[in-house]
Amino acid sequence: MKFYPAEIGADEILPLSGRLPASILELNEEGIKAETEIVVDLHVQRDGETMIVMGKLQTALQLQCGRCPEWLDYPIAIDDFCVTFEPPLATSIDLTEPIREDIILRLPLRAACQLDDEHRCPRSGKSYPPANEAPGSILGGEAWQDLDKLKIKE
Ligand SMILES: [Zn+2]
Repeated sequence: MKFYPAEIGADEILPLSGRLPASILELNEEGIKAETEIVVDLHVQRDGETMIVMGKLQTALQLQCGRCPEWLDYPIAIDDFCVTFEPPLATSIDLTEPIREDIILRLPLRAACQLDDEHRCPRSGKSYPPANEAPGSILGGEAWQDLDKLKIKE
């Protein structure tokens, strides 16, 4: 997705919209699938010799749950995409790389499914008790209660 700075006048706003294939993300990591097109809705403006590109990006990735091997939809909607190009400006400016970077930055470090009220994964149905109810912690809690009882006896 390119634009030509010379074609944009001082008070002009050039709309730049379209779809890019997910392959531009170059995501080959394990646990990530990029198959959904990137919907690009941008506009280009000139501020003196500086070019400003602003707008929205939208896509979805599939991430593998960190808890169970299920694949989760991970929608990405960027409303505040903004990149500026300072002189010297190239004859044509390609936005593929800044678009790629902005989407990659929104990826979570670790994906995991949202557990329901009973701490079950909605996809796999497996149960994951929260950490503070792990057996070790419960023992710890009882130990403190015993200490409190001792204090009351004193
Ligand atoms: Zn899960």
